Amino acid sequence: MSSPDLVVFHARITPCAEEETRMGRIEELATIEDGALVVRSGKVVRVGESERVLSETTLGPDTRLLDAEGRALIPGFLDPHSHALHAGRRIPEMQLRQEGKGYLEILQAGGGIQETVRATTAADDAAVVRDTRRRIGQAVACGTTTVEVKTGYGLTPEREMRLLRLLAQVRRRAPITILRTFLGLHAWPLGTEDRPVHIAEMNALLSDVAAKDLAEMVDVFCEEGVFSPAETLSHLAAARAAGLAIRLHADELRPSGGAELAAEIGARSADHLLAATDEGLRAMAEAGVVGVNLPGTAFFLHEHPLQAERQRAVGLRAALATDQNPGSSPTFSMPMVLSLAMHMAGFRPAEALLAATRNAASALGLEGTHGQLAEGFAADFLLLDDSDYRVLFYAFGMNPVAQVFAAGRSIAHDGRLTEEMRQWMDS
Ligand SMILES: [Zn+2]
Repeated sequence: MSSPDLVVFHARITPCAEEETRMGRIEELATIEDGALVVRSGKVVRVGESERVLSETTLGPDTRLLDAEGRALIPGFLDPHSHALHAGRRIPEMQLRQEGKGYLEILQAGGGIQETVRATTAADDAAVVRDTRRRIGQAVACGTTTVEVKTGYGLTPEREMRLLRLLAQVRRRAPITILRTFLGLHAWPLGTEDRPVHIAEMNALLSDVAAKDLAEMVDVFCEEGVFSPAETLSHLAAARAAGLAIRLHADELRPSGGAELAAEIGARSADHLLAATDEGLRAMAEAGVVGVNLPGTAFFLHEHPLQAERQRAVGLRAALATDQNPGSSPTFSMPMVLSLAMHMAGFRPAEALLAATRNAASALGLEGTHGQLAEGFAADFLLLDDSDYRVLFYAFGMNPVAQVFAAGRSIAHDGRLTEEMRQWMDS
């Protein structure tokens, strides 16, 4: 067996390898007080007590040894819901909302998502790719090592296919894991009249999307006034027939039957859920659908986030994500999302950390390879600037992530990206 590439020792390791990850069943996470992590070829090959691991591991001339000096070591965050692929920002809209305009009202008047569609359509390809990579760089600096990115600021078949091509460019040679979701049904395209024709055209794209390996997942904004459960079902059935995984934006603003639909069709996740009914959440839990909580969006839209207690009551598998987007959640900070989950939604630290690692991996279909520190899993991990991982919840609005490793390579240190990350962002 060849020698390891990296051994991190004297770390307080929380591997997040628990079997049970449903809300209501998690109190504390197992922690190795003086732990070591051994990495070879981008994967974890061993996790255990420092003394034992160091005495039993044969180091090679090129093995890097890193003394963590007692700092907390946890899996890298997986952010399973973002809209990072876009151009422009929407700062004035933030103030319109502050002055009393509703999110749907702004959208229906041609603002909101439509404004970002115009900006993204007008921007050159290179600018969209560069801006998206820069945003992902911000996510990495805050500890994200896997991110999902959706299309959805094209809305017509041609423009959505362009966004998929740009997403392929964004992902090229990326130092972290990037998963792609087709969200053609994100909002209604202005100038298009016939609903059934439009849905049929979008459905028809999906076999090509799968055949050309342009996305792993398909998502729909299922919401009263956006896409109905019937339209959502038609699109997701086409996605499944094409071999793509399915998920949906469900019950964000009003109870629209999205959670129930997600359970019925066995979606991988249903996301938002602020207005989901208890029956809908229960049906999701029973069907094994992950509930992706987006408390940053609730915070920014001045809504109440989905409460942890409601998810515990039904034993839902909860994940956390940023929902990074220019209108309702312009952050890529998972530590901020974790703080909001605890202080605004009542998550326990252990529940929130599993939601940002293990359960986020499940929402992305990566539960066998990412999201925990165990033998054979990706060596994606973080060293925090404290021995207690709960510093993530305590130092809200700050970045307590001291060092970020993806596939065993250091990609950010003290909030600054390494040369490898910077080169990728600028290339
Ligand atoms: Zn979203």
